[in-house]
Amino acid sequence: MSQTDPQPVQYLADYRPWPFTLSETRLDVTLAPRDTRVRAELRLTPQQAGSDLVLDGGTELRLISLTVDGQQPDPSHVIREGERLTVVAAALPQGPFTLATEVGIDPADNTAFEGLYLSNGIFCTQCEAEGFRHITFYPDRPDVMTTFSVTIRSDLPVLLSNGNPVSKAPGVAEWHDPWPKPCYLFALVAGDLVAVSDSFTTRSGRKVALNVWVRPGDQHRADFAMQSLIKSMKWDEDVYGREYDLDVFNIVAVDDFNMGAMENKGLNIFNSKLVLASPETATDADYERIESVIAHEYFHNWTGNRITCRDWFQLCLKEGLTVFRDQQFTSDMRSAAVKRIEDVQALRARQFREDQGPLAHPPRPDHYEEINNFYTATVYEKGAEVIGMLKRLVGNDGYAKALDLYFDRHDGDAATIEDWLKVFEDATGRDLAQFKRWYTDAGTPVVEMSEDWQDGRLTLSFRQSTPPTPGQTEKPARIIPIAVGLLGPNGDEVAGTRVLELSEDSQSFDFDGLSARPVVSALRGFSAPIILRRDLDDATRAFLLAHDTDPFARWEAGRELALSALTTLATGGEAGSSYIASIGALIAEDQTDPAFRALSLNLPGEEEIATRLAYLGQTPDPDAIHTARTDLARRIASAHEPLLSRIYDEMTVPGAYSPDAVSAARRALRIAALGLLGRIDGGERAEVLFGVAGNMTERMAALAVLLRLGHGAPALAALLDEFGDNRLVMDKWFSIQAMAAPPQDAVAVASALAERNDFDWKNPNRFRALLGGLAANHAGFHSVDGSGYAFTADWLIRMDAVNPQIAARMSTAFETWPRYDEMRRAHARAALERIASVKGLSRNTREMVSRMIA
Ligand code: ZN
Repeated sequence: MSQTDPQPVQYLADYRPWPFTLSETRLDVTLAPRDTRVRAELRLTPQQAGSDLVLDGGTELRLISLTVDGQQPDPSHVIREGERLTVVAAALPQGPFTLATEVGIDPADNTAFEGLYLSNGIFCTQCEAEGFRHITFYPDRPDVMTTFSVTIRSDLPVLLSNGNPVSKAPGVAEWHDPWPKPCYLFALVAGDLVAVSDSFTTRSGRKVALNVWVRPGDQHRADFAMQSLIKSMKWDEDVYGREYDLDVFNIVAVDDFNMGAMENKGLNIFNSKLVLASPETATDADYERIESVIAHEYFHNWTGNRITCRDWFQLCLKEGLTVFRDQQFTSDMRSAAVKRIEDVQALRARQFREDQGPLAHPPRPDHYEEINNFYTATVYEKGAEVIGMLKRLVGNDGYAKALDLYFDRHDGDAATIEDWLKVFEDATGRDLAQFKRWYTDAGTPVVEMSEDWQDGRLTLSFRQSTPPTPGQTEKPARIIPIAVGLLGPNGDEVAGTRVLELSEDSQSFDFDGLSARPVVSALRGFSAPIILRRDLDDATRAFLLAHDTDPFARWEAGRELALSALTTLATGGEAGSSYIASIGALIAEDQTDPAFRALSLNLPGEEEIATRLAYLGQTPDPDAIHTARTDLARRIASAHEPLLSRIYDEMTVPGAYSPDAVSAARRALRIAALGLLGRIDGGERAEVLFGVAGNMTERMAALAVLLRLGHGAPALAALLDEFGDNRLVMDKWFSIQAMAAPPQDAVAVASALAERNDFDWKNPNRFRALLGGLAANHAGFHSVDGSGYAFTADWLIRMDAVNPQIAARMSTAFETWPRYDEMRRAHARAALERIASVKGLSRNTREMVSRMIA
């Protein structure tokens, strides 16, 4: 069912309400792998006389019958064209009527994992954004909301849909969802599943049955997900006053899933890697991610489901807000400082990268060809940052008031970004017209800050500008909150954090009554998603790294020191030792959170160094960057060997494994030390650790060290032997080999892995493990002979015919290509053009590739 039909560009400005209302949807589904029957009854009322009834429906739907109030219309009144079915107005009553259809579909043949499909014997659905049209003919748009009653017929033991269970008998189950919803939130699951069950009593006393459904044998790996769900339900009551609203909440884990997880009403469906975890198979990072994604999907019940989006241009209305909420949740559950730094790192790695390349788009785009291409870091992560800024601008109380008003005013609505901003304006009295540019304008603002010191007065001057992005050349000034604090010469804070609000191209702010020139700690907490430029020498950075009271700014000072050393080395210069000395002092601080020390000790990745060089106007050389980073790591290890070795020994975590934040922090510091020591100890410690560690966090860290040294074979064989039948561990096994291979071997390693029988490439996780692993090997993917590009292009072409969403998403491996040297650019362009020339290429991949070579 790949969508190859040309579809005109969709424009936000063209939005029109649907000319019918839909008051009820009844579905009766008889499951069979090759011929599932879906009978649908829609209770419709025309809103505008003379409107044709236009429904969406994939070309693969086999229409078996169609009636209007029980009568078959004249065949000339029913027109099927492309992905549309039209019943002309002449065939419709003027008042309410029932449209009944029956279609046949083929879940076993559905490799795109959109609509109804089979994953390892489990029937499941994925409808966001436009998958429901592959299940039945329907107004497949989020502003059409109604109640659903669903009957499922199948001999499989577990039959699930949205809402509350109505009845269950052998071979048939009925569900009713009383909350009106758009069809993208519909879900159905049927299979041989078992549940880990618990319950949650809401604050008003409603008892909710909770189930996490997995395949028999996986129960012991579902407990952590269940605990995460319970914490999320409680947190949303405590912090946002939001209660759950059905009798049951079901989560199902499936192996074939295009994305991470999906918030279907009362029936969340998850990629199994975001549910299943046990100490011997999952890393600390996996546990943290499971906790946050369970929370994310649960939080969508209010921000996404009870209040949904009017159209897909408003996607960041639900995603930005829900990411913001899950970030708050993780900060409350773990360390807020560490979470903020992790989020900023991810934002820079994914969203800044997107914003600085050919795929840049605003959090709320105004046009698209394929909506599946807009589930991006900009919509999600930048969408969340924009809300963080709003909160900073209106204060915590203003934010709380605005959110209460949002839930009051828009419960049951399909809303817009305008509605969202209006709520803040009405609750706080603040005019947000200029702030709205954050939603409509693409690109990362660059803010230059300079300092002037005279007679006890410090003046900070700022200049903001945003480089042009595709389709947007003019970038007027935005509201930018810059949180600033001042440190005295002895390191004490002489002025606490103050938020400066930029609104013009250039602006200055004074700080008076200072007895000595202070050191400025700027952009505390990463108060805005911008690039801050300031002339700082390494000595001042080292001072901030030693003394800043704001954890983000402190970490950032170390980051800047590291990047300054790395970019100098990667362009043939001699790096000073400032970073090496400062980092030694920091990691020796026994009182400082080990997680913070670990974050500071991990060097910026090669991709980040390349981004910095490109930003400084230089052409990044991937090989030189790799060498520079390897050299600096080795120098750090040699300079601090006794200290690192002591940390490595001390940061063991006694007792049984627990994924809690405190234990994970110790392991994080321990493996950061291991990574550096591995540069000089020949892999001795890693080899021992791999053999004795009882948890996957340490084993994977040890394996990465061994692979980088080219000594990974025995460890790989041991893992294969132990976990060959565990898909999630094998995904790691595939990805780490491609990722940690020495760059000159990376493509050969990836090619050999692709030949294996267990390279089940149609499984999205396995495909991403290998192709994403290679793409994360910066110098390997960007091999000067073009082999990384060619290998990736071959697989994208192959995947596109089977699963266009996955091919299109993975094509972003190429999105930075314009910044490299001529030789690499030529190879990359050739690879992209080869993809573009494929006959029958999907709309998804075509849109991505054409934006990248535009
Ligand atoms: Zn989401």
